[in-house]
Amino acid sequence: MSVLIPPGADPHTFEPRPAVMVELSRARAWFTIGVPFEDNLLPRVSSMNPELAIVRTEEGIARVESAHEGADPHIWLSPRLVKRQAENILAGLVRADPAGEKVYRSNARRFQAELDALGREFGTLFASVRDKSFLVFHPSWGYLAADYGLRQMAIEVEGKEPKGEDLSRIIESAREKRIRVIFVEPQFSSRAAATIAESIGAKVVTADPLAANWADNLRKVARGFSQAAR
Ligand SMILES: [Zn+2]
Repeated sequence: MSVLIPPGADPHTFEPRPAVMVELSRARAWFTIGVPFEDNLLPRVSSMNPELAIVRTEEGIARVESAHEGADPHIWLSPRLVKRQAENILAGLVRADPAGEKVYRSNARRFQAELDALGREFGTLFASVRDKSFLVFHPSWGYLAADYGLRQMAIEVEGKEPKGEDLSRIIESAREKRIRVIFVEPQFSSRAAATIAESIGAKVVTADPLAANWADNLRKVARGFSQAAR
């Protein structure tokens, strides 16, 4: 198994290196998420490797329209939606490798139980949070927020660092909403976040939307938020 986007890289500006294209030309299956770069890459890869099975892990997930990205692609940050993705992944694996079905099914069962536990854990964590709004540079956390009654506000304006009036407006509304936590992602600039945090006395918490250890990372983000916002 290979991961297309290395941890820390930004999928919005991702361009596969030649070595990655070689891997894709030899792969049996590609598990997609529905991030725009995949749709750009798909025709190229399919013509290079017509046998490649495309498994759309986002199938059956209703996506929310977002301000600048079209359908919000960040489904992998919600344990609830990842349950559906895991079903799609299981189906894709069984199709690509029927001999392994038994193992895939038992692994998938275990993973679904883990997701249920994670979902319950988050429910408890977020229930004790008083101020439910948070700021984040790039709005990757909308699905997770919606699952637990939290509200995400983006710092970026048209994908860029806000300046002047935009920055003042964000600070104003962050103060109104009594925002206590500002998330920064390693893939993006944290300059505006630091400025805003300083003027409203909020805490800055690092939240990586693409960490390699998915569950541990999500747990870390959730705990960081609930501790800072209490
Ligand atoms: Zn994004």
